[in-house]
Amino acid sequence: MADDLSAASHWISHANTVVALTGAGISTESGIPDFRGPKGLWTTNPKAERLSDIRYYMADTEVRALAWQKRLELTASAVEPNAGHYALAGLERRGQMHALVTQNVDGLHQRAGNSQDRVIEVHGNIHETVCMSCHWRGPTRDVLTRVRAGEADPPCERCGGILKTATISFGQALVPEVIDRAMGAAEAADVLLTVGTSLQVYPIADAVPLAKQAGARVIIVNAEPTPFDSMADAVLPGRIGEILPALCQGG
Ligand code: NAD
Repeated sequence: MADDLSAASHWISHANTVVALTGAGISTESGIPDFRGPKGLWTTNPKAERLSDIRYYMADTEVRALAWQKRLELTASAVEPNAGHYALAGLERRGQMHALVTQNVDGLHQRAGNSQDRVIEVHGNIHETVCMSCHWRGPTRDVLTRVRAGEADPPCERCGGILKTATISFGQALVPEVIDRAMGAAEAADVLLTVGTSLQVYPIADAVPLAKQAGARVIIVNAEPTPFDSMADAVLPGRIGEILPALCQGG
């Protein structure tokens, strides 16, 4: 592990083009649970999987009410970026971060200092809300004001349709241009750094073999094994908040 850490740190400090691929694990130290980790939402409550599935969301007002309560918790509590997010923001400040592909919807990379045009959000984000019928779009904070005022599952004020944050749930189509941009970035990387993702969600997990075939070094930072560990040049298990600052310190 110490050898892997120093080799990986050397590759990053000498890379022109680092691309990061992050998942829910980078935000657990900010207090947001992941899905599949030991304390993950799905691990502790298999029914929670319904919250992320568009079929249950569209069919059941109770699922939607619970989803809005979760959004309220995420935005109301003091959720802040952590050392892992700041380490990646440091790579961009040093001019090395070509793109930061994230499966997360929490917006913490931008809050840590990564610029919006470098962050590729393959599953959307929670800050915008969309009407599933008339496609109205507006800020989630306005919808959450209605939830706080007692509307458990607020309907669209324009057409009465179902509202949902502009995130991509299981069963919803990805945006092809966004996926193409993410894959293009992975292909152009000198170093692909995956952080806090179980690499079980496709097609984005394919960024790993794509980058590898195009000649990138692949570094995986994750507490648990992933299906791509044998392909990686370095695997760093352990806490992201400890490993990333050491990995990305430069020099
Ligand atoms: P995942 O839950 O499948 O995997 C997260 C991985 O991170 C796990 O293997 C876990 O062991 C590891 N991990 C957790 N905390 C860690 C830490 N502090 N240090 C090191 N490793 C740690 O997450 P995924 O691969 O991102 O896929 C799940 C889907 O969940 C994504 O599509 C994403 O959209 C969504 N999601 C997002 C958020 C968020 O925005 N913060 C939260 C939950 C789920």
